[in-house]
Amino acid sequence: MSKKKRIVIALGGNALGNTLPEQMKAVKITAKAIVDLIEEGCEVVVAHGNGPQVGMVNNAMIALTHEDADQPNTPLSVCVAMSQAYIGYDLQNALREEMLNRGIENIPVATMITQVRVDESDPAFSAPSKPIGKFVSAEQAKMMEEKFNYVMKEDSGRGYRRVVASPKPVEIIEIGTIRTMVESGDLVIACGGGGIPVIRHGNHLKGASAVIDKDFASCLLAKELDADFLIILTAVEQVALNFGKPDEKWLSDVSLDETEKYIKEGHFAPGSMLPKVQAAVDFAGSKKGRTALITLLEKSRDAIQGKTGTMFHI
Ligand code: ADP
Ligand code: MG
Repeated sequence: MSKKKRIVIALGGNALGNTLPEQMKAVKITAKAIVDLIEEGCEVVVAHGNGPQVGMVNNAMIALTHEDADQPNTPLSVCVAMSQAYIGYDLQNALREEMLNRGIENIPVATMITQVRVDESDPAFSAPSKPIGKFVSAEQAKMMEEKFNYVMKEDSGRGYRRVVASPKPVEIIEIGTIRTMVESGDLVIACGGGGIPVIRHGNHLKGASAVIDKDFASCLLAKELDADFLIILTAVEQVALNFGKPDEKWLSDVSLDETEKYIKEGHFAPGSMLPKVQAAVDFAGSKKGRTALITLLEKSRDAIQGKTGTMFHI
């Protein structure tokens, strides 16, 4: 019998929705797509983003400081931890149910609260770029800068938003436990929201005010677990050249050299498609036999059979 293919799946925003009820509905569809892969005979590890959720938790914790003067503001690392647990709960609940509905009773599901180490000297810390949370007025933005030491930026005429650093993941602290669980056949959800960002100070891991890109964290997770596939599930079925333009061209199969050329030509938007393509290239180029795929959630089964999606290989 051939060895099971190990797949790390990175879930994007459309797999989780934007609000609590949306997420509860979305995870049911997401669970179906994931269990489809398990039925295909794959070993699946799930990672996911947290953009809307971490913004929501952060806003809720700010509201608490207005309500109760004794409550200090909540560090962003703690907001990421809260989002990880909340999303993990919805996902593991839906995955368990979907497997039981299909008669799969021997695969335990669990979420690993994951810390991911980042480098204190990462240039991202001096150039915060990732917007989180809701839009506020110029006056509110000024207040938040003074009261909470936030960096607030005007966002294309829509108001001000908090921007945070998005440093590169360096080390997955709980990788040993994650590996043990995966090796024993569990379905593991890990590195949620890119992982809780921490900086090493001797034996102490200090929470960092940052949000790690889930595409890069998933890539590191896939490399560390020696996965065969990294599948990044997002809102488009394939990656395009000249995206949204009249001469748009969808890509089904690309070599890493071709992709590097397309990156230089500026085909992939920073902050959305670029980190996915960079993560795909990084993973596929890291060892022979590793393949990266970018596709739509509902198409993941077709994509691993080579029927759709954009496949990256050496
Ligand atoms: P996720 O929540 O899955 O990370 P993002 O919105 O960050 O999703 O990124 C996916 C989006 O990237 C797509 O919905 C599409 O609008 C956009 N995009 C930018 N450039 C491209 C491209 N070259 N090909 C396809 N999609 C692109
Ligand atoms: Mg994204």
